Amino acid sequence: MTISTPTTAPTTTTTPTGGKAKYSAHLSNGDPTILSTSYIPTHPHLFLVHFSPGDYNSSLVTQRPFARGETLAYMDSAERAPLKRYSTVQVGEESHIELNSDLLYINHSCDPSVRFEVGEERKMWRAVAERDIQKGEALSFFYPSTEWSMAQPFKCNCNSSRCLGTISGAKDIDAQTLLEGYFVNEHIRRLKEAQSKEEIK
Ligand SMILES: [Zn+2]
Repeated sequence: MTISTPTTAPTTTTTPTGGKAKYSAHLSNGDPTILSTSYIPTHPHLFLVHFSPGDYNSSLVTQRPFARGETLAYMDSAERAPLKRYSTVQVGEESHIELNSDLLYINHSCDPSVRFEVGEERKMWRAVAERDIQKGEALSFFYPSTEWSMAQPFKCNCNSSRCLGTISGAKDIDAQTLLEGYFVNEHIRRLKEAQSKEEIK
């Protein structure tokens, strides 16, 4: 290993053990000057990140159409995360993963184009089209479908007639509204049903 002083933002980070490239697009925080040297698309024939300055203004835009029910991508570069963060996805009652791919840039909508199907087993982790999606669309998924309690709640601006307003996780959404109106993963359904029983007691 040679030691050198980088003159630009590093494009990849090597791990001490394997030399495997880590996902680094989000390190640019939407700064286009860093982006131009550091962004390496993970699924360039399927979708690309469109960066905008500011927090949460970037998006993931399709490079081809998808049919309803089609798998956009498996989360095969995801890794289990020790702690919940703004960037993690919850896959079980106590389990979270880092996506380590451009799927990180799929924003929330209360009327989403994509669902994240997850579970304790990693072979289950994938993004599926909720409806037909056109080329050039910005993708969205319903964050409370995976997240029980979010690390960073926010006010939703999806402009859907089904918009739930402030999104802080499934724990704060009325059980009937959530379970009858939206796709949620099994761990969220279990947690919501357990919470409902707790409230009746
Ligand atoms: Zn909304």
